[in-house]
Amino acid sequence: MDPLQRYSSSLKRAKSFFEGKNTKTPKGTPITQSQLLKLYQNRADCPICGTEFSGTNHNTEHIHPRALGGANVASNKIQMCKLCNNCRNMTMQHGLIGPPYSKSYPQMWEQIQRFIMWAEITVDDGLQAGEMFPEIHQFFMDERFAGQSPPKHPTRAFGRASTLDAATVPNYAHNGSPRATTPLTPTAPSAPATTPASEKKGFWQRVATPVLDFLTGYGREQPVPDRQTRGRKKPLRSTPNGSEAALEDGPPKVELEPRSTDDFVEFMLSILTPEPQELSLVGRSIESHLAGLNAKFTTTTYFLSLHGYPRGLKKAIQTHLGHRVVITENAGKQYVALASGDLVVETPPLITPTSSLIYETKPPTKKCPAVDSMFQQHVLAALSGIENEIKLSTISSVLEEYLESIGEPGKSFKQFAKSYGIPTTRTAVEIIDHYFPNTIGYRREGKTVVHIWLKVTEEE
Ligand SMILES: [Zn+2]
Repeated sequence: MDPLQRYSSSLKRAKSFFEGKNTKTPKGTPITQSQLLKLYQNRADCPICGTEFSGTNHNTEHIHPRALGGANVASNKIQMCKLCNNCRNMTMQHGLIGPPYSKSYPQMWEQIQRFIMWAEITVDDGLQAGEMFPEIHQFFMDERFAGQSPPKHPTRAFGRASTLDAATVPNYAHNGSPRATTPLTPTAPSAPATTPASEKKGFWQRVATPVLDFLTGYGREQPVPDRQTRGRKKPLRSTPNGSEAALEDGPPKVELEPRSTDDFVEFMLSILTPEPQELSLVGRSIESHLAGLNAKFTTTTYFLSLHGYPRGLKKAIQTHLGHRVVITENAGKQYVALASGDLVVETPPLITPTSSLIYETKPPTKKCPAVDSMFQQHVLAALSGIENEIKLSTISSVLEEYLESIGEPGKSFKQFAKSYGIPTTRTAVEIIDHYFPNTIGYRREGKTVVHIWLKVTEEE
């Protein structure tokens, strides 16, 4: 299946995100102790490089990155080793010139889409499928494996959306798959005959623009000697639901565990868009979601049955999403869209002089030195996932998680500020006041609690 279609819901979501129609990017939720235990009991390994998890060598990867509008839902999460996770981040930063990525939109929309598709397909179809996006894949492979073949392959990885609850077992679609025994190194000269190189070209001729070349850092000019022969020996799957073609070489299909109504709502909110989508297309998103999970069946009916819904998709959406969606009919076709209530750009709480807000007044003697703008960029990127407002006291943990996700040592907010030369005598509020006057809002509640939020800014 054409990745543009296969991942159309992610791409739409990203577009809405960048256009500010849906700025709700929930903060990541940490893995629980019992889920961690499950990983270790199963001796789980990384779905990309096969490294066994231990201690803190792994974390949660958002397959479609939150910084590009990805949802914090189970279907968008997978446990991955930190090295792979960090290299995926570096690949994104390098290719999309960020964070913040809002500055790369819309000029780099083509590259953003390619990155998202690469990020998704390397999880759904195995690492090697990333070769479909050679400039991205090559950068990742160089960063992560110094351009070599991965030394190991996953055998006990958990796939997308794994709940890691009691009954779960490693269920990654490519555990011990044939690619585990097939070297990625150049092979037979017959490879070009079956390599999808020409298809790739045709495909990208259709979807990509010459602007692609301005992917400055990806080094298109660099020779990539092995790419042709390192390509998949089998063409990418092309069946409508993206799964049947794998029958002859894939692992056994997985019977998915029952899911809750909340899961259903969360999933639907992640794939629905402000623009009406034909109901059948929504069904196809569900099918490709199931295919990505290597589910036993990839039909909408099966998906609904996981939630205990006996009736059709429309009925389930109406029943469980209610006023959050709008279902319309036109020329005999059903369309479903997110209702505007879910799309309202988050606006900061209304502050009036009579509210509890007390603006900090800075004594003139306290100096805040000029800092590199990366300081602000990193803090804003770290906060890009917050919903509404958060307590200022939690900013350090948000920042730490963000820094780790980009491969930097975790630092508290003030430590981070210090590393940019801001004296530790400045309070967090003073730092926000001085360095983020137009981007971070804050208010006090009582004497000790401060709430902060990202101000919604106009696209430049
Ligand atoms: Zn890894």
